[in-house]
Amino acid sequence: MKQRPMNDLIGRWVRPEIQGLCAYQVPDAGGLIKLDAMENPYTWPEDLRRQWLELLDGVDVNRYPDPQARALKQRLTKAMDIPAGAGLLLGNGSDELIMMLALTLTGPDRTVLSVDPGFVMYRMIATFAGMAYQGVPLKADDFSLDVPAVLEAIDRHQPAVVYLAWPNNPTGNLFAEADVRRIIEAAPGLVVVDEAYAPFTDSSFMSEVGCYPNLLVMRTLSKMGLAGLRLGLLAGPGPWLAEIDKTRLPYNINVLTQVSAEFALRHEDVFNRQTRLIRQERARLFEALEGMPGVRAFPSEANFILARMPAARADGIHAALKSAGVLVKNLHGAHPLLADCLRITVGRPEENQAFLQALADLL
Ligand SMILES: *Cc1c(COP(=O)(O)O)cnc(C)c1O
Repeated sequence: MKQRPMNDLIGRWVRPEIQGLCAYQVPDAGGLIKLDAMENPYTWPEDLRRQWLELLDGVDVNRYPDPQARALKQRLTKAMDIPAGAGLLLGNGSDELIMMLALTLTGPDRTVLSVDPGFVMYRMIATFAGMAYQGVPLKADDFSLDVPAVLEAIDRHQPAVVYLAWPNNPTGNLFAEADVRRIIEAAPGLVVVDEAYAPFTDSSFMSEVGCYPNLLVMRTLSKMGLAGLRLGLLAGPGPWLAEIDKTRLPYNINVLTQVSAEFALRHEDVFNRQTRLIRQERARLFEALEGMPGVRAFPSEANFILARMPAARADGIHAALKSAGVLVKNLHGAHPLLADCLRITVGRPEENQAFLQALADLL
């Protein structure tokens, strides 16, 4: 039998928009101080770890998990102050919820709208699902919302869903609450306020769930300190969530995640202590960056800081930091507004110190 060249087969059958994508890249961080992915740098106290392992010992992995994850949902409702009567949907990370939203809303001429620079998965998942993506540029000086431009784009594109990360990734700032409200009120479809960084700010739209017919609030446990468990949640009006739930794969939250997250949230105080430390370190890191020659740090309400390096030096500094043992995220080239920018996740004090020392040596 004659073998056909595989590239011809791929070229014929893989959707052109998928062929045109680059897969989400995660660099190898082996042996490096990891300040690139917004993880909580702290592990659990020893006694908590022991209790957790005991609990896992009683889990039967031969059985499917609770398809509704009832115990976990109850715990989340309390921990996240989800309003009584609100609907709640869980995802294998909030990324899966973004995917479920896309599957629910996609169709010819359906648009996802967000701001740029913003969270890259809004755009990527829109493409996976065959939706158009419109990104409205943020203001160049402080990454605030350009409200007239957003309202104009909403009017023109009639998006099925608008995503606003609040605080925003990768810029770290919190958009003005009044601006977000204007967008919720103007949007013809859903507005998802993505509160992935809720543990690091005092602001939230969670108490507003149910007050608008088109507002959904998304959270994740990843940035709080449970990135390895993969658990995201979407809160909003029940009838909306009932529709989105139809696209959920059965048992999407595995039994180890259900048991572990429920256990972790019973010990919220441990995580609250850790996030307080991270917020303190964020302030220290910000001041130190601001004091460096030619560096501009942008105020952050998240667990990372965006910082602009002296012109044309970000690539070199990023590589040199890596050689010095520190991995941060290089955003130079990701978007015109991010020229010369690096994004530094707040780590433990000694990790931040190692980063600051390595950077100071390079400037
Ligand atoms: C990290 C991040 C997420 C993804 O979180 P997972 O729950 O780990 O999938 C979602 N939105 C924003 C804005 C993020 O920065």
